[in-house]
Amino acid sequence: PAPPSHPPHTATVAGVPVDTRHWIGGERIASAASPASATAATFTDHSPLDGAPLAEIARGGAAEARAAVAAARAAFPAWAATPPAERARLLHAVADGVEARIEDLAAVETADNGALLRSHRRGVMPRVAHNLRYFADRLLALAHDDFETRGHTNHVTWDPAGPAVLITPWNAPLMLASWKIAPALAAGSTVVLKPAEWTPLTASLFADIAHEAGLPAGVLNVVQGYGAEVGEPLVADPDVRRISFTGSVPTARRIAATAGAHLVPCSFELGGKSPLLVFADADLELAADLAVEQFDNAGQVCLAATRILVEESAREAFLGHFLDRVAKLTQGDPRDEATDIGPNIHPRHVERVDGFVRRALDAGATAITGGGRNTGLAGLAGLGGLGGLGGLGGNYYLPTLLTDVAQDSEIVQEEVFGPVLTLQTFPDGDEDEAVRLANDTRFGLAATLATGDRERADRVTARLVAGTVWVNCFFVRDLSAPFGGSRASGIGREGGDWSFDFYCDLKNTVTAP
Ligand code: NAD
Repeated sequence: PAPPSHPPHTATVAGVPVDTRHWIGGERIASAASPASATAATFTDHSPLDGAPLAEIARGGAAEARAAVAAARAAFPAWAATPPAERARLLHAVADGVEARIEDLAAVETADNGALLRSHRRGVMPRVAHNLRYFADRLLALAHDDFETRGHTNHVTWDPAGPAVLITPWNAPLMLASWKIAPALAAGSTVVLKPAEWTPLTASLFADIAHEAGLPAGVLNVVQGYGAEVGEPLVADPDVRRISFTGSVPTARRIAATAGAHLVPCSFELGGKSPLLVFADADLELAADLAVEQFDNAGQVCLAATRILVEESAREAFLGHFLDRVAKLTQGDPRDEATDIGPNIHPRHVERVDGFVRRALDAGATAITGGGRNTGLAGLAGLGGLGGLGGLGGNYYLPTLLTDVAQDSEIVQEEVFGPVLTLQTFPDGDEDEAVRLANDTRFGLAATLATGDRERADRVTARLVAGTVWVNCFFVRDLSAPFGGSRASGIGREGGDWSFDFYCDLKNTVTAP
């Protein structure tokens, strides 16, 4: 037979070779299909752009989970004892490696998760490097409190906690992984990362980059596979000291129950159903800009303000500005610079998004715009390069705005995670009702306000249940700020020193005079 055109265990995606195996203890490892079998267990990773298969990825199970945690445990003492300045230097070296490969990372991420190539290039991948640099520098600036009690000194230190399992979703794969990896490694903990099965590729490239930058073997491990097969044994492993999870509420419940058995601290960044409050005194052009921003990443953003709550007398004017903007949006291939909205992640996910919309329409909602798949794109040829189904496939969902929706309805209460917004009104001058509607879901991740009145902004903000409130802006994030959600949107806060709180065991040493 003809030799394979690429090395075994390598897939070429968007022209970039990607190793499809796990990265455990500084080695590439495939999953055996069974102890007796010579073939590897894999699963197929598809592109959301056009449904084309991209790679056969190692399919991890209990054996790989155990091996990865054991590797992280073995590497922990030396990494924890590595002087902070050296850990920081290595993180900056990894950031250099990321910056050198931004084009590759951006192209592979777009092929794998369908988000816009231009935002991966200019926003997301530079942000990955920034995450690494920020936490490297923050480590060196950590406060080591000293204070006195009746002549005794108290000395507070940040001890690395031990191996951390990091489990991430598909909507911003490497960005979200690096937001956990950077503080965990800076803190002196070692890491096992399990990327989402729908987007395994950039984590593998990142493992190469970290290795080439000189990160010691076992400090960062990457295992691939399904949550039920490799995620669960990772979470259940008694050698794990921290679990940081970003994903859905049902998965968080399962992880919390398992982690509870070992009393392992968990950080949970979960879903949302955040409001966008538009008061009649707002700049309504700005409010419309903020509303349209909620379609970014095809609506697959945990922080998205998907419930527009507008003061009755401003409804028509706001809606006019909003629809003008929606009419100018271009949906299509995310590799095209002109595209504003790409595909959703997976046919199963699109089906789920569409199910929410169908049920809302059946219950009496009106689609002011959108309301279904963008069928016009199915027959269009892609820009080439991925092969695929000969068209852009069925993952493209029209930017949708639904009105005539009841507060207690599914479409208002549940996270859709697609380009689907609802519009409700509150009576003129009734701030209480605006706040009541805003807070009336089980979530509490974020809220966005458009108002021209600073005092109103302060009054309303004080009453909102949300981890982040944006006033006349959206998605502006500083890594020094606490980030997380209230109620079902999460447990704990990361960012700044809060990340170090999580990945460290704080110790106070009291010394007699
Ligand atoms: P998901 O919970 O289905 O999966 C997330 C990860 O958990 C994947 O890697 C998956 O393989 C793994 N997993 C699944 N079952 C598991 C188990 N039993 N044990 C261990 N791991 C398991 O979520 P998703 O659909 O991939 O992600 C979308 C969700 O993530 C949305 O709800 C979104 O709001 C949320 N999200 C939150 C934030 C935030 O910062 N708050 C950011 C992005 C996404």
